[in-house]
Amino acid sequence: MRIDGACQCGAITIEGEADPAATGICHCTDCQTGTGTAFRVSIPVAGTTFKMTGQPAIYIKTTAESGHPRAQAFCPTCGSPLYSTTPGEGQQAMYIVRVGILRQRDQLEPKRQIWWRSARNWVTGLDGIRKVEKQT
Ligand SMILES: [Zn+2]
Ligand SMILES: [Zn+2]
Repeated sequence: MRIDGACQCGAITIEGEADPAATGICHCTDCQTGTGTAFRVSIPVAGTTFKMTGQPAIYIKTTAESGHPRAQAFCPTCGSPLYSTTPGEGQQAMYIVRVGILRQRDQLEPKRQIWWRSARNWVTGLDGIRKVEKQT
C-alpha cells in the first residue's frame, strides 16, 4: 500500500510503498533509548519506492549485539524519528520507517515483536492501566 507522512514540524516528508503485514515492534534497548519510550513500531519500505523531501539528521548507531552500524534518521528541527537504513551515500536498498509519522498508522497494526527479552514488563498489561480520553 501507499504510505506517506511527515515529522512533527513538517520539514521532512516521506512516502513509499509498504506491506502492512510487515509492520513490527522492536523492544530492544536501543529502540527504547532512541525513541525515549518503551518500544518502536516500524515498517520496511523498499528503496526503489522511497521518496523524501527535506534533509534529515543522521546518527550512526552500532548495536552492541550485532555489530552492524545503522543510520538513524530524525528531523534536526523537531527531533521526530523518521527511519533507519544502511549507512552510505544515495538511495539505500531498504528503509525501516517509523509508523508514528505515517498518516496510515491506523491501518498499520504490528504483526511481529522482536527483542522480546528486553520488553518492559508492563507492555502486556496496557489494557489494565487506567484510561483517560484526553489529558488528566
Ligand atoms: Zn520536523
Ligand atoms: Zn530495536
